[in-house]
Formats: sequence, C-alpha cells, structure tokens
Amino acid sequence: MMNAPELVAIDAASASLFMRWPDGAVSELPFALLRSACMCAQCRKRKLDRETPLSSPDVKLVDARPSGYGLQLVFDDGHDRGIFPWIYLERLARDQQTAADHQESRTL
Ligand SMILES: [Zn+2]
Repeated sequence: MMNAPELVAIDAASASLFMRWPDGAVSELPFALLRSACMCAQCRKRKLDRETPLSSPDVKLVDARPSGYGLQLVFDDGHDRGIFPWIYLERLARDQQTAADHQESRTL
C-alpha cells in the first residue's frame, strides 16, 4: 500500500527535506544524508567500488519531483538519477529518529 507524505518541502534553512506523513509524523532528512543514501545504479556501483564518498557535507537539494512511487531528488552536485521510494524515505526517517533518540539518551 502506498504511504506517501501529505506534504513535502525543501527546507533550505535547516538543509533538510521536510515530510509530513498521513499519520501526522514529521521527518526532516538532511540533504547530505539523502545524497549518500542514493540507491541509483551509479551510486550503488560507487559504493561497491568504495570510491570517494557520494556526498559532501554542504551538498544541497535543489528539487524534489514527485515520481509516482516516490521522489526524484535533484542535488546541486548535478546528480538527479536517484528516485527515492516513499517506503525508503520512511525507513531513512525512522533510522534517523532512532539515531537521534540514542544521541539524546547519551547526553542525559
Ligand atoms: Zn545516485
């Protein structure tokens, strides 16, 4: 079943992609995280070959185009091949939330 966000916005101020899901949850995925999470054939090959990192910390997301089952993300490094299925974006958001929770519990 398709579980697409109700709202998708590029938040330049926080350098992250904002999404609001149908259950009311919101996620903010940093541009650099998204860039390095690209699953297109080209990026998968680069990861397998252990070439230079896909992402630089200051990479910017310039466009997020709805593409049926997900979003085509366009980055300012010229990369626009990645299509991120909703389910994948949801999983990235969940993983990131888990990491943030761990961070918080460590600082307590
Ligand atoms: Zn890619």
